[in-house]
Amino acid sequence: MTTAHAIPNWHHLARDLKIDGRAFINGRRADARESATFACHSPIDGRLLANVARCTGADVDAAVAAARAAFEDRRWASVAPAKRKKTLIKFADLMLQHAPELALLETLDMGKPIRYARSVDVQLAQNCIRWYGEAVDKIYDEIAPAPEEALALITREPVGVVAAIIPWNYPMLMAAWKIAPALAAGNSVVLKPSEKAPLTSLRMAELALEAGIPEGVFNVLPGYGNEAGAALALHMDVDCIGFTGSTRTGKQIVQMAGQSNLKRAWTELGGKSANIVCADCPDLDAAVSAAIGSIYFNQGESCNAPSRLFVEASIKDAFIEKALAMMPQYAPGDPLDESTVMGAIVDEVQLRTVMGYIDSGKSAGAKLLHGGAQTRIDTGGYYVEPTLFDEVRHDMQIAREEIFGPVLSVLSFTDVHEAVRQANDTPYGLHAAVWTANISKAITVSRALRAGTVHVNQYDNDDITVPFGGYKQSGNGRDKSLHAFDKYTELKTTWIQVK
Ligand code: NAD
Repeated sequence: MTTAHAIPNWHHLARDLKIDGRAFINGRRADARESATFACHSPIDGRLLANVARCTGADVDAAVAAARAAFEDRRWASVAPAKRKKTLIKFADLMLQHAPELALLETLDMGKPIRYARSVDVQLAQNCIRWYGEAVDKIYDEIAPAPEEALALITREPVGVVAAIIPWNYPMLMAAWKIAPALAAGNSVVLKPSEKAPLTSLRMAELALEAGIPEGVFNVLPGYGNEAGAALALHMDVDCIGFTGSTRTGKQIVQMAGQSNLKRAWTELGGKSANIVCADCPDLDAAVSAAIGSIYFNQGESCNAPSRLFVEASIKDAFIEKALAMMPQYAPGDPLDESTVMGAIVDEVQLRTVMGYIDSGKSAGAKLLHGGAQTRIDTGGYYVEPTLFDEVRHDMQIAREEIFGPVLSVLSFTDVHEAVRQANDTPYGLHAAVWTANISKAITVSRALRAGTVHVNQYDNDDITVPFGGYKQSGNGRDKSLHAFDKYTELKTTWIQVK
């Protein structure tokens, strides 16, 4: 499949798509050692997409050994920066060439609308790989101030074998955020995608090999968290683990890293982001559209979704009226239809979780203003209406826990300091926002918000150039930007006697 200039007929392409669910180890497709597989169904309509390799400890040993051998003989780390750069850029080019196929795989696998898989996910993922490729030959090491008789060099070296474990909500993009800086820095990588959406990672490994990334440098092991994932986190020959997923699993990863070889463990975890809209918000329409657009994008399955909306009491009715007027455009539809903006929830387990939170909101006394039901049941897929709760109290479960679905909780405030206090009163600290025309208030509130990213008078700006990560239990690392190199490199000091 090559680049399509016109929009393809996705249903036809889906029917003809050949999907290979085998693992990718040492430059080759491979069955799991025990030939075990798990069935990968589409949340769109329940169709069987592939039987995917169910990798376990023996496969992890094989992939880590391949990655270690590639690192030790320096077949990638010693490649001249200009060549490494070219190879990564070729990898990004190949992703663009195969964009329709990658987008289709992503949509079939995890249910997001094809229009976004193609225009957002593939584009951001390839851009991430391209950006780190471009960076390879623009990063200089340092010379420290030292006495005349010596030279002190501070250099960055790859950590070695990097394990990357990722979630299912943006599978291709999360893979890119991990592998691009790790590979650019010269490491070998073993990637474990989520068992709920492993298909694009496997295809990316083939494209990386085609681009010239040597065998063994980039391996992909599909499998379950407590099998392949835990074996990687516990492995004595993995030097570093980059994890993105839930806070619950992140705590286990850090423990496993500690109880094995104290591998460096970087975590990017959950969120319950607060969006504070003050009465002096400079553009109410923009605030409504950002609040609604950001919570329902990707079916609400975004770590940084602004799931808690704090609106100043005097503008709440006007805000809600405008928000309700937008809801029909988020009605779930067929993800393979280009006009659909809200797709399927990733699987039945997640659907039950979301519905459980909706029930808890209703029984706690929150006022359901829109949605609240499962829909499109006759398709055999998993769809939930965009859901809006008003009169949510800070102590309700729907205001405290990450739902990871299309559910917005509206809380109101009269004192912005109290809104900030409640916004911060959470274990999470990923994103936050404040809307106000008062520059002093904007700065005071954004300083007070304990979050890795704070937005002022917007919500959805993002770019590969800026770090992404959380305070508190939203994690300890930063993906994206040049800061991501810190996670995948060691600093070495070399003292050289001159006289
Ligand atoms: P999850 O924690 O259930 O799984 C994430 C990954 O960890 C999967 O690959 C899974 O197989 C693996 N895993 C599960 N148990 C494991 C174990 N015991 N040992 C090793 N690996 C294990 O999370 P999820 O449901 O896939 O993803 C949703 C979560 O990810 C949400 O909390 C969301 O906020 C978070 N997330 C965070 C970011 C970020 O950048 N901060 C980005 C995307 C998603």
